[in-house]
Amino acid sequence: MSNSLVFCSFDAGRDGLPAGAEEVLTLARKLATARGVDLDWLVIGAQPSGVEAAAAKHGVAHIDHIDDPKLAELEPDVVVAAVQQYCGQQSPALLLISQTFDSRLVAPRIAARVGAGVVMNAIDVASGDGEVKVTATAYGGDTRVEYDVAGPVVIGVVSDPLLPEAAASPSAPEARSIAVDLAGVDERIRTVQKASSDGPRLEEAQIVVAGGRGLQDAENYQLVEDLAAALGGMAGASRPIVDDGWTDSSHQVGLTGKITRPVLYVAAGISGASQHMVGCAAAKTLVAINTDGDAAIFKYAQYGIVGDCLEVLPALTKAVKGG
Ligand SMILES: Cc1cc2nc3c(=O)[nH]c(=O)nc-3n(C[C@H](O)[C@H](O)[C@H](O)COP(=O)(O)OP(=O)(O)OC[C@H]3O[C@@H](n4cnc5c(N)ncnc54)[C@H](O)[C@@H]3O)c2cc1C
Repeated sequence: MSNSLVFCSFDAGRDGLPAGAEEVLTLARKLATARGVDLDWLVIGAQPSGVEAAAAKHGVAHIDHIDDPKLAELEPDVVVAAVQQYCGQQSPALLLISQTFDSRLVAPRIAARVGAGVVMNAIDVASGDGEVKVTATAYGGDTRVEYDVAGPVVIGVVSDPLLPEAAASPSAPEARSIAVDLAGVDERIRTVQKASSDGPRLEEAQIVVAGGRGLQDAENYQLVEDLAAALGGMAGASRPIVDDGWTDSSHQVGLTGKITRPVLYVAAGISGASQHMVGCAAAKTLVAINTDGDAAIFKYAQYGIVGDCLEVLPALTKAVKGG
């Protein structure tokens, strides 16, 4: 059994490094150094540009690459099968995955297939007494949980709170092509991403204007879209209004939606429930508009407007347009 520690990445539709790669590699390297084992990087599908340079920067020993025509779309069933076969060949002790919408679909399934434990929402991973100590968030970020984990384990790491840091001395990673047989793998679950606009993905938007139940009515979501457009940003939403069909799920911010980290986040008619805040707490500046001066959202906001969003949103749009 290998003792190696593996960072596994697969990221469809991105240029450059996979989301959170450098942050998770930094965490993984510290753990690998403390345990005296190799840090390897498993790249699934087409290898993005910059992987070699980032691997060297973060002290990676091997870049293990699995590519196959069946991995073109990085569909969950095929990714799970590929990683399962890799684990069968390499038997890594720990598999770390940057937690994204896509990786949340596959990490627990990989763990189940290879008989490993799984911890999601990890924000720190450190060496314990022969074991691994994983700190993770729970209950939508309200609570911290510590796990002492023994044996093989798959860990989904939330990269937002982490800062990338280069290794003291770079490595010269060895590239290994890993052969797997995906011929018999059927895609039972397909991920359908609805294109929401020609602009950036919500997770990457610099400005997000989001609306919640305080908008009162589906047609008022247009006020959120108008301000977002005027500011050159994107429109977001709380879960209840997505559930009610006021907008589609590609706009949902929060625990079960998108994790945004914009420069500016405007929350209109949103109460500030922890499950929503998970998706916007990393915003540099948060502006809240709410009729209830005691709403929880004001605890997080740098700027607060106690008022009716049906009046404030059009006024802001008008002001931004110079009217
Ligand atoms: C497992 C789980 C996962 C979840 N995941 C998510 C998630 O990903 N994203 C998410 O958003 N939620 C999520 N939720 C739901 C979450 O707990 C809250 O219920 C939800 O965020 C509340 O949405 P809201 O703020 O739009 O509505 P409400 O809580 O109803 O708040 C509406 C706010 O609007 C204000 N308001 C009313 N009228 C006006 C007006 N005219 N002008 C201005 N303000 C006004 C009110 O004072 C109130 O503060 C999840 C819940 C669970 C249990």
